[in-house]
Amino acid sequence: MNQEEKKRYVYKNQGLYALINKIKLWPARSGILHGVKSIDYRGASMTITTHCGESFVVWDSRHSRSARWLRNRWCKCPCPACRVPDWKLQKYSNTVFSDSRRYAHGS
Ligand SMILES: [Zn+2]
Repeated sequence: MNQEEKKRYVYKNQGLYALINKIKLWPARSGILHGVKSIDYRGASMTITTHCGESFVVWDSRHSRSARWLRNRWCKCPCPACRVPDWKLQKYSNTVFSDSRRYAHGS
């Protein structure tokens, strides 16, 4: 069994909530990758709490900065206070952001 061969596929055109809920990581503007402890979804927005105790409200949008940063993996430094486990980072780097739902959007 080769763990590294395991790929996780995530539709890249879904909203931020679905992305965060699956990946459980938060890309901060500072370039730090936080571990997500909980997400409280309220329809158009959500409250995200990180393992290092930060809590903030973000809008659920597939075009948001954070969704883009997450898909492009622009955050390279895991937060030391969050103590993001290696397997989670490994899983994140093995995630393929697929656009196979593009057909659903029509021409
Ligand atoms: Zn953190």
